[in-house]
Amino acid sequence: MMLKEVMKANEEFVKEFEPKKMSHMPQKKLAIVTCMDTRLTGFLEPAMGIGRGDAKIIKNAGNAAVDRDVIRSVAAAIYALGAEEVMVVGHYECGMANVDPEKLIDAMKARGVNEETLSEVDIKEWIGAIDGEEENVLNVVGKIKESPFIPDDVPIHGLIIDLYDGKIKILAEDK
Ligand SMILES: [Zn+2]
Repeated sequence: MMLKEVMKANEEFVKEFEPKKMSHMPQKKLAIVTCMDTRLTGFLEPAMGIGRGDAKIIKNAGNAAVDRDVIRSVAAAIYALGAEEVMVVGHYECGMANVDPEKLIDAMKARGVNEETLSEVDIKEWIGAIDGEEENVLNVVGKIKESPFIPDDVPIHGLIIDLYDGKIKILAEDK
């Protein structure tokens, strides 16, 4: 288990760390919706010029907006935390673009998820599997914009990052 290792690392971290008070408001007034991909950790932020305290970062598998949770977080960032701009940032070679629904169902069954539960959902849709990374970014931008909870005056941009060279491409620039 990683727990011991994490607690050991934390002990070392706290020894070195100089505490300082920071605002919970995003200093760059930005909310980012991105993927939970491990390769984005410590990579996406510097690639975007974002430091600690600068932006609200909402992560999930495949930077998807398949349920209300992403919209809820974006709305909270806007109304409660002062975000004035939203960026959906996808990446190439996303694990969610290569999900095999059959394999997934088998893996879930093998771990005890019952057949009835699985028969009630379209597993591909439920897990947020995507057909193409660029298409998915545009799709999610559309879903956020369409939400009646998101005000029209907040720009929602769509971007995609290359995991090798760190280059970001704009797929949809809003206003
Ligand atoms: Zn991904």
